[in-house]
Amino acid sequence: MIYGGIEAGGTKWVCAVGGAGEIRQTVSFPTTEPDETIAQAVGFFAAHGELAAIGIGSFGPLDLRRGSPTWGRITTTPKPGWSGTDVAGAVSAALGTPVAIDTDVNAAALAEHRWGSAMGLRTFCYVTVGTGIGGGGLVNGELMHGLIHPEFGHMRVPHDRERDPFDGACPYHGDCLEGLASGSALLARWGIPAEDLADERAWDLEAEYLALGIANVTSILSPERVVIGGGVMARPSLLPRVRERVGHLLAGYFSAPELSGDLSGYIVAPALDARAGVLGALELARLRVGGR
Ligand code: ZN
Repeated sequence: MIYGGIEAGGTKWVCAVGGAGEIRQTVSFPTTEPDETIAQAVGFFAAHGELAAIGIGSFGPLDLRRGSPTWGRITTTPKPGWSGTDVAGAVSAALGTPVAIDTDVNAAALAEHRWGSAMGLRTFCYVTVGTGIGGGGLVNGELMHGLIHPEFGHMRVPHDRERDPFDGACPYHGDCLEGLASGSALLARWGIPAEDLADERAWDLEAEYLALGIANVTSILSPERVVIGGGVMARPSLLPRVRERVGHLLAGYFSAPELSGDLSGYIVAPALDARAGVLGALELARLRVGGR
């Protein structure tokens, strides 16, 4: 069967058609106004004949409550024009195709579970540190949902204002994890984008915040592994520093072989890189119709 997948990001959309774990054709365009952006996606899929289903991994927050009258809609995004946008409904109505929707991070997590760094695990977290910070994953083999869906980026972490007087960049919470440690926060605090930031103090602080977040998630959810990626993690020295700080924070209390040593098998990079989002969206489509 042939499926469609959309990685609906806040800055760009990536659309693909393909099978399970296989991208046949893909297109990418900037995220502009909702109507225009959705129409571009619909145009791409319409040119590929009948698709069994379309999966969408979207930026959010999203309403994913089954039975909700506003299911599939983007809710409180600060992105201008997008609050309340019915992405799933618009795509489904335009193409007459079954649609599945989940967060962009859950879609990427699903792909990492099928083909990447989380294969074979029942419970794991996937964290992405880019412009914002997102988190998702599986619990007991199912994508994480709840009242809404996980919002790892907005957890609160200790903020030592003597070490870091920066107020935080989150428009809702100020110094939540995303407000302190996202790429946007790095740019706002240091005046330099993450890819050009050389100050070791900046990266020590970054590792500390990300480690606090991971230690919290490990304490709450007991994931079998934490997969962490995104543009900010591209700095090679960051991942080992995060592992070292998580080890320090857990302080030997958690008894599992995975949590001893240097944590190099516990906190890992994604394997699928930029393909994870759209592969996960295709997989959401496949699961939607129970296809092969
Ligand atoms: Zn926040």
